Amino acid sequence: MKILVNGIQSNLRFSSAHVIPGHESCGFIHGHSYFVDVEIEGERTGKFEFVVDFKDVKGFTKEFCNELDHRLLIPVFNELIEFKDFDKKTDSIDGLKENKTIQFKIDGKGYSIPSVDCVLLPLPYTSAEELSKYFAEGLAEKLSESYDNLKYVAVCVNEGIGQGAEYRKEL
Ligand SMILES: [Zn+2]
Repeated sequence: MKILVNGIQSNLRFSSAHVIPGHESCGFIHGHSYFVDVEIEGERTGKFEFVVDFKDVKGFTKEFCNELDHRLLIPVFNELIEFKDFDKKTDSIDGLKENKTIQFKIDGKGYSIPSVDCVLLPLPYTSAEELSKYFAEGLAEKLSESYDNLKYVAVCVNEGIGQGAEYRKEL
């Protein structure tokens, strides 16, 4: 059986800024009011014969939303972003986070952003596609700690109403 959680109605939202380096219009810093829909399939089990407790699904998804909310999302593994004093092939993202200011260049444009204003993500892009994969994998990992009855966790990250990308993590 499947369970569905609607991001707008369940308040699984975040508002963030991002940039898609090299893209004609999305290559400038801009923002979205995102919302996150979740679909999970699994066997019904336990005392209450739930697939999964909605409280867990909403709680964990909200934690991921809160982590990104009101920040600039930076995809550290993007090929066009060159960070100052940081080699993305050998240095750790945790080390980069310790800088007070994150300095980088995209196509010759220089950026200097306080690190408290950013979230550094281990992704090549902060597109809806990559964010849905990030959410689905993170949520699947969290839920797997207490559930062994789940078949998949699918997450749709919507960049506002009318456009979103869904990623399904099989378990
Ligand atoms: Zn965008």
